[in-house]
Amino acid sequence: AAHVETHGFQTEVKQLLQLMIHSLYSNKEIFLRELVSNAADAADKLRFKALSDNSLYEDNGDLRVRISANKEAGTVTISDNGIGMTRDEVLQNLGTIAKSGTAEFFSKLSGDQAKDSQLIGQFGVGFYSAFIVADKVTVRTRAAGHKADEAVEWISEGEGEYTVADIEKADRGTEIILHLRDDEKEFLDDWRLRSIVNKYSDHISIPVEMYKEAEPERDGPDGEKIPEQPAHWETVNKATALWNRDKSEISDEEYKEFYKHVSHDFGDPLSWSHNKVEGKTEYTSLLYIPSKAPFDLWNREQNHGLKLYVQRVFIMDDAEQFMPTYLRFVKGVLDSSDLPLNVSREILQDNRITQAIRQGCTKRVLTMLERMARNDADKYQSFWNEFGNVIKEGPAEDFANKEKVAGLLRFASTHEDSDAQTVSLDDYIGRMKDGQDKIYYVTADSYLAAKNSPHLEIFRKKGIEVLLMYDRIDEWLMSHLNEYQEKSFQSITKGDLDLGDLDDEDTKKAQEEAEKQVEGIEKRVKDVLGERVKEVKLSHRLTDSPACVVADEHGMSTQMVKLMQAAGQ
Ligand code: ADP
Ligand code: MG
Repeated sequence: AAHVETHGFQTEVKQLLQLMIHSLYSNKEIFLRELVSNAADAADKLRFKALSDNSLYEDNGDLRVRISANKEAGTVTISDNGIGMTRDEVLQNLGTIAKSGTAEFFSKLSGDQAKDSQLIGQFGVGFYSAFIVADKVTVRTRAAGHKADEAVEWISEGEGEYTVADIEKADRGTEIILHLRDDEKEFLDDWRLRSIVNKYSDHISIPVEMYKEAEPERDGPDGEKIPEQPAHWETVNKATALWNRDKSEISDEEYKEFYKHVSHDFGDPLSWSHNKVEGKTEYTSLLYIPSKAPFDLWNREQNHGLKLYVQRVFIMDDAEQFMPTYLRFVKGVLDSSDLPLNVSREILQDNRITQAIRQGCTKRVLTMLERMARNDADKYQSFWNEFGNVIKEGPAEDFANKEKVAGLLRFASTHEDSDAQTVSLDDYIGRMKDGQDKIYYVTADSYLAAKNSPHLEIFRKKGIEVLLMYDRIDEWLMSHLNEYQEKSFQSITKGDLDLGDLDDEDTKKAQEEAEKQVEGIEKRVKDVLGERVKEVKLSHRLTDSPACVVADEHGMSTQMVKLMQAAGQ
């Protein structure tokens, strides 16, 4: 080897390695899943690149990953003939964590192992999981299109540093040699390895091969001769793209493992929807809703979107054109029969087929959520707690599905004594009073502020439910939501509140009396406050508080004013 360099891991990598080795120990076999998953990604990337440069295959287009164990050396080797890595790519990919959200992740670590291991599960560890079972890892790799003597060897004991050296490697692709820790020798066992592949990697679309020793000629059960079997590589997984298989043949376990492969998430998905669409636009979609929000859900530059295939050929990760922004947490695969193989992000951007697929996928997700809400309220609640604030962006973004999205919303309300957002608009409508035709709500900075709003007094007295909104986005949401099920929304802090039929005759009379009594007072208060207020009026809404500030019916609400001020306007 030549040009050997020693590098230190990025601090976060060191932390991650420490944490992972200790916390994922009980689930250590997942290292194989991660490495096979990377090999499959490398095959996908090569196929894609070869679309425009067929010579990259170097006469070897049968892409596969091979797993073998060497008992004498105590090593397990995973080798692929995918895209490989250049020296720069090795330094970038195997020395740092490039993932977005990394900073948030590390800021959340508490030092409490049990808690942190939960977190790491969400973060994903990928390649570094090799160090759970190995005390030394050697990666030998040559990038497609590069010469044999332009290969690289990366070696690390997973402590604080690694070396990189220039080497020769005849075959394209990546070979990962795990020098197993003394107490991890169980992974040298052929059957153990096979069963792990079956459990976690059956859905991988390229063949996962294991070496089968030669078998001498022997006698069959009926006395016939079974010929000698030379040693050969045997495919041990199904090796077909999972989404192309028939739904009825795919187990929940397979769907879950496939999710982990496409999403790079460690946890199980909450739900999924697998559909083959035929007709004018033909495509297959397999869409997943994660159980947990990613660390970077609120990062605008966050990668999101579906893994795009065209006629089974991988085209790109994170194709965000097939989902509206308010569904950016959805993961999965889209395989189109209509898009051209040379499709680019630019072409996708403004494309009739993209539009049709996007509409279809959006409907699928909304329907999946509606069903979940109907059939499994607890599950839906856990979805809402993770992603509710993103769904609230929906009515502003997706005019066509406004009503559907509104049906998915959940709020706190005066009906419950809790800040938990559990009340749907349908629940609310079901409890409306005779003669009530509006959905009343109040927005505030916090649940407590909403709950203690003086504007609520009259509603409490009359037993009318009010939705209590206290998330930053609620004001924005309500400015785009005018009605649901033909009932209009009414902020209780805005303008003249006409409770319509809810005010009975007696009350009206009493109110008129009161108005006469205070005529002079209104004018006096207005004189004192002057320009600071638009008008001073007697309110029938307050029962305990002497006065409150009300926004103009057509002006901005006080909450919106605060938002604008916070935004520096
Ligand atoms: P992820 O798969 O989520 O990107 P990993 O830690 O599993 O994260 O891998 C880090 C990166 O290293 C990959 O994104 C890829 O660029 C590179 N890599 C890992 N394994 C291989 C491989 N077998 N062939 C080519 N590149 C690889
Ligand atoms: Mg990976």
